[in-house]
Amino acid sequence: MLALRLHPDRRLRLHEEAVPAPGRDEVIVRVGAVGLCGSDRHWVLDGGIGDARLEAPLILGHEFAGVAETGRYRGRLVAVDPAIPCQRCGPCLAGAVNLCLDLRFAGHGGTDGALRERVAWPERCLQPLSEAIGAVEAALVEPLAVAVHALDLAGTLEGATVAVIGCGPIGLMIVALAHAAGAAAVSATDPLRHRLDAALDFGATHVVEATALGDERALLRAAIPGPGYDVVFEVSGEAPAVETAVSVAGPGAQVVLVGIPPDDRTTFGASTARRKGLTLKLSRRSTPSAFRRAAALAEAGTLGLGRLVTLRVPLREATSGFDSLVARDGLKVIVEPGAS
Ligand SMILES: [Zn+2]
Ligand SMILES: [Zn+2]
Repeated sequence: MLALRLHPDRRLRLHEEAVPAPGRDEVIVRVGAVGLCGSDRHWVLDGGIGDARLEAPLILGHEFAGVAETGRYRGRLVAVDPAIPCQRCGPCLAGAVNLCLDLRFAGHGGTDGALRERVAWPERCLQPLSEAIGAVEAALVEPLAVAVHALDLAGTLEGATVAVIGCGPIGLMIVALAHAAGAAAVSATDPLRHRLDAALDFGATHVVEATALGDERALLRAAIPGPGYDVVFEVSGEAPAVETAVSVAGPGAQVVLVGIPPDDRTTFGASTARRKGLTLKLSRRSTPSAFRRAAALAEAGTLGLGRLVTLRVPLREATSGFDSLVARDGLKVIVEPGAS
């Protein structure tokens, strides 16, 4: 089968490899669609993410869906949870499996991901879906679960004023979810115009173009009455965006940090944050519960997530998909290992 590996020289190369042998509790999934993520962009551009570095050729891809070829869901479309918690450590036993101390995650560290024709994956990580949606939309379940988990951390948004800093696919999903949750206002900012247009499409009430000068902060505050937002989602990871999040938050607001900083540092003006008594929450991927709810939302189709997909390429042409990911010229790039 065909597999795409990122090598330590940061080049992507196609390989012909054997179909993986399923381990105990694992089943074979024929991969139908893989979404490329901002974290994959970090792997390709920086050779790592956070404190994880690329040491051996790695198959990226953690947003994926396909058809189970073995096991109890054989023949069915499944969205695959890329996280494999150990089920033995303290956080796992306490039910916080996203905080597992020995977590394996597709396309991260030593665990190969889904940019290949078949994967062997634990059956308990599979979420069967109705055939009403296809593999491409099913591959959006994982990033949607990340967005659902971020909303879980924020609590109820009904009647709240919400700001979303950074409008990549997860930021846009947060916009859509906040709108659906009955937020009184959803303001969004990003440096890229096409992302702001998408934010309006997904239910943002105000959009503001982010600039190098931070001009968006005053404009975001002016977009709503009162001294600042009740809830702010920071979904970019860039230092100025974190600063913007703290700057537009109101007194007593919640700030949920979802973005991953490229230099592994989060900084913001301490006095501003302290004066407002902000609650900062750091979001860690998602949870099995968020994954199930995201699957149900994708099946219902009410969020219209298919609008996020701006490019679909077969595995053989995946490098052009990565070029688009790096250039940020679209929204979500999907690689289809089954297509030719
Ligand atoms: Zn992702
Ligand atoms: Zn664990």
